[in-house]
Amino acid sequence: MRLVVVGGVAAGTKAASRARRVDPEVEITVYQEEPEPSISECGLPYLLSGMVESRDRLVARTPEKFAEQGIEMKVRHRVEKVLPDTRKLFVRDLATGGTFEDSYDRLVIATGASAVMPPIPGADLDGIFEFRFLTDADEVMRHTKERRPAKAVIVGGGYIGLEVAENLCRIGMEVALIEGEDRVALAYGPEVSERVEAELERNGVDIFTGERVEAFVGDGRVRAVKFGEGQVEADLVILGVGVKPSVELAREAGAEIGATGAIRVDKGMKTNLPDVWAAGDCVETTNLVSGEPSWVPLGDTANQMGRVAGTNAATGEDTLEFPGVLGTGIFQVYDLGVGKTGLSEKDAEAAGYETVSAGVEARDRAGYYPGAEKVFLKLIADAGTGRILGAEAAGSGADKLTDICATAIWGGLSYPDLVNIDLAYSPPFGPALSPVIQAATILS
Ligand code: FAD
Repeated sequence: MRLVVVGGVAAGTKAASRARRVDPEVEITVYQEEPEPSISECGLPYLLSGMVESRDRLVARTPEKFAEQGIEMKVRHRVEKVLPDTRKLFVRDLATGGTFEDSYDRLVIATGASAVMPPIPGADLDGIFEFRFLTDADEVMRHTKERRPAKAVIVGGGYIGLEVAENLCRIGMEVALIEGEDRVALAYGPEVSERVEAELERNGVDIFTGERVEAFVGDGRVRAVKFGEGQVEADLVILGVGVKPSVELAREAGAEIGATGAIRVDKGMKTNLPDVWAAGDCVETTNLVSGEPSWVPLGDTANQMGRVAGTNAATGEDTLEFPGVLGTGIFQVYDLGVGKTGLSEKDAEAAGYETVSAGVEARDRAGYYPGAEKVFLKLIADAGTGRILGAEAAGSGADKLTDICATAIWGGLSYPDLVNIDLAYSPPFGPALSPVIQAATILS
């Protein structure tokens, strides 16, 4: 049996490794367009500041390591066409430019996501970069070394733009961040956005919200970014306006594309095509709170989906299921951890819920204990049943609060359940009553 995997980062490499474990006999080839496989893209912002010392630290496994596992990893190879009727693939070797034909018995598509390029005049000027792959980070690092930019502009206030802003500021650049909506971190409620903006501004990042970039201005090289009435100087621009699922290969092969624009799969990660599975940022899944199709491109879920797809592709059966996601995520800007799980208030209302919510500002340890820091938590619940629908946390210990709430939502708990939930307490770890209990008590 020959298994081919298209895409060799989180979902693709997990699928291949899992298939190998399940079936030691299966022949496995992974085609990966980028020059390296198994890249920890989540670490890219920290490469810019030197917090991650070398790019090689972000490559978890080399093709040689895959070969030791009996997995053929063909980097710089792009699969250009899949013919599901004949189970053939057309592959371009990016090193030579030539193409060749291959075939599969079973196929896993893990083509991920790519950066959205906004149609802004001047976007092709030298010094303007997208920030998705290690090769993008390489380009930014090369530009930084050769041109020594002093003024950076980040376009987009999602978590990637925010992390990049911090890391460029840390190496002494003057950093401005421009966001078209009226606040950054839009996936969160306004209370969290305010805290994120305050933390970045306190550390020297200039934030412009409600401003659409109209043009990049320059003379071959970018010199400034123009928006509304204003303009900021720039000799480095990072575009962080979002990502989109890379589905062209699958779509052309006849794979069904879901409402979110990503590949539709069943719980076993199988597409509508015979013997073709898909996993990671290129697929949509179900939001376990709303029951609606959901596209949440994150590294941990890409791995979890890859495990299911790889297992099922190896066995040819529905051995494992991937249930769906809550949309749990976290990021950090300077000293502020920012996490969320489930639905935001806005999304819950859009999904037809009547919501109640409670926000508390607490401490991450007993108030008298040295070093106590602030943390904010908001719990969002269904007004009728009390079921927890979502939570957002910002501050020290946001990771713990987010994960407690994710577990509560996963378990179908309601806020009365959380009032008496038995959580750990000692002064160095939190207040006597966790902010989760405090917020649930307010709702009661
Ligand atoms: P990708 O990582 O997109 O990999 C797909 C690969 O397939 C690519 O290398 C692509 O070149 C290749 N490919 C595409 N088409 C073809 C083809 N036709 N032939 C051959 N190869 C092809 N997630 C988190 O959970 N937490 C974080 O903190 C976090 N931080 C992030 C920070 C940054 C800067 C970025 C960019 C992402 C971050 N993510 C984070 C998201 C996470 O990196 C992705 O969700 C994860 O990498 C998705 O893995 P994937 O395998 O589905 O797709």
